[in-house]
Amino acid sequence: MRALQLIGDRKLELVDVPAPPAPAEGEVQVRIKAVGLNHLDVWGFRGMAFAKRKLPLVVGAEASGEIAAVGPGVTGFKPGQKVTMYGAMTCGHCAACREGRDNLCENVGGVFGFHIDGFARELMNMPARLVVPVPDGVSLRDAACAPIAFGTTEHMLFDNAKLKPGETILVHAAGSGIGSVAIKMAKALGCTVITTVGDDEKAEKAKALGADHVINYKKDRFEGVTRKLTAKKGVDVVFEHVGGEGFNGSLLVLKRGGRLVTCGSTAGPTVTINLMQLFQQQYKILGSFGCQIRNIRDSLSKMAAGMSAIIDSEFPLTEFEKGLARLEGRQVFGKVIINF
Ligand SMILES: [Zn+2]
Repeated sequence: MRALQLIGDRKLELVDVPAPPAPAEGEVQVRIKAVGLNHLDVWGFRGMAFAKRKLPLVVGAEASGEIAAVGPGVTGFKPGQKVTMYGAMTCGHCAACREGRDNLCENVGGVFGFHIDGFARELMNMPARLVVPVPDGVSLRDAACAPIAFGTTEHMLFDNAKLKPGETILVHAAGSGIGSVAIKMAKALGCTVITTVGDDEKAEKAKALGADHVINYKKDRFEGVTRKLTAKKGVDVVFEHVGGEGFNGSLLVLKRGGRLVTCGSTAGPTVTINLMQLFQQQYKILGSFGCQIRNIRDSLSKMAAGMSAIIDSEFPLTEFEKGLARLEGRQVFGKVIINF
């Protein structure tokens, strides 16, 4: 069967590997149909010194597929059923896993496609525990966006930032996979959404998603515009995943007692913050990583109810690298999907 492996920094190779054996006790075998790309894939592709991993490594961190076979002792799955998979190999028995907080697993084996072999292969065996059924009416293409793009956003907005109806939120980078989903989820809740983009074409697309105010950060400083839009009061929540120089600006536009939730640092991982500002303004800075399996189920339910994924482009497995280049070049609006 085909598998796409990272064999060195910026070197991918489509190889023929043996198919997995029949699924073991508690496992299912999944025929992968679509892989969603994320910034995580770009980092992995570039080569990250701190990531403990062995090459070659099968890439792909987020995917959907169909059940090919069901192992002994597994109930609730049948061949042909559409599914999606959790993004990390968690243990299932530590305190965090037992509470459904898999993203805090004490014995995590790694993130698929980043630390351990990922989803860009035709067949793979997975613990059934980490496999989530896709409801009727949701396409495999959209389902491939549930574990990371939707799940991460769901976890950030609702579990961590506790976003409430009627609040005002600043969503950074409307064109990113999670930014585009955050706009949709916040609007569906009845929030006022301010968002940022890097060009006018993306501004139109962000408005079409429902954003109330769109700031082109190449023309205007988002801090000034956001403060003006909120009559200097600031926003309740900032949805951050950029980091770098903009991070302090994101704190500056928070209301007193406001919440900043972050899951990324594409513009740089290190910032200096003013602690006096932090405690006097009573800001809450919330780190968020991945999601819980429950968030994937909730995301799929939202998709089934009509909240479709925002797809930038689709490529065949042989053109995985073209998809990565779109992400790396910040050309995307929404998700890049790789089809098998
Ligand atoms: Zn665990």
